[in-house]
Amino acid sequence: MSKKGHIPERTCVVCRKKCCKYELVRFCVKGDKVIIDDTHTAGGRGAYTCPSCIFQLKKKKYLKKLLYALRAQQVKEVELPNV
Ligand SMILES: [Zn+2]
Repeated sequence: MSKKGHIPERTCVVCRKKCCKYELVRFCVKGDKVIIDDTHTAGGRGAYTCPSCIFQLKKKKYLKKLLYALRAQQVKEVELPNV
């Protein structure tokens, strides 16, 4: 018997590609900020992007998608890596 399935898959908010969640970067809301959840353990709603899509979040269009996925449209501050 093969152990198939049960790999949690998430969709990148930028390119909509589905990927194993551990290969994606997780964002979550902390207080009034969106932060990167390096450890994938922060509670609450998360949103995901591929590592190669992060820089796209500098574009308003994609940032909006991220905030929408997090139901955090009111958040003004987003922590992005320096890429
Ligand atoms: Zn992507």
